[in-house]
Amino acid sequence: MAQTRDSKTRRPSRGKYIPKRKICSFCRDKVEHIDYKDAAKLRPYITDRGKISPRRKTGTCARHQRALTNAIKRARHLALLPFVTSHIQQSVTTG
Ligand SMILES: [Zn+2]
Repeated sequence: MAQTRDSKTRRPSRGKYIPKRKICSFCRDKVEHIDYKDAAKLRPYITDRGKISPRRKTGTCARHQRALTNAIKRARHLALLPFVTSHIQQSVTTG
């Protein structure tokens, strides 16, 4: 009776990737269409190197990730978002 060991408590992982249950921020906000002109909105979904963040990182659902990818690519084309952030590495001079 005094034992509280239950299946409720998951065994501690050994430094492995812990999948946190995230909800898609677009689903939460009930976003139907992702605006590619809104670069500020897309910013959190690209890495500091200008790459599109993977779903497992952002928690975006498949549907919205696809729309997001398209939006980011369009935004890149319009120079709202960078393809690569090479200007960050300008301090590194070779030769
Ligand atoms: Zn979603």
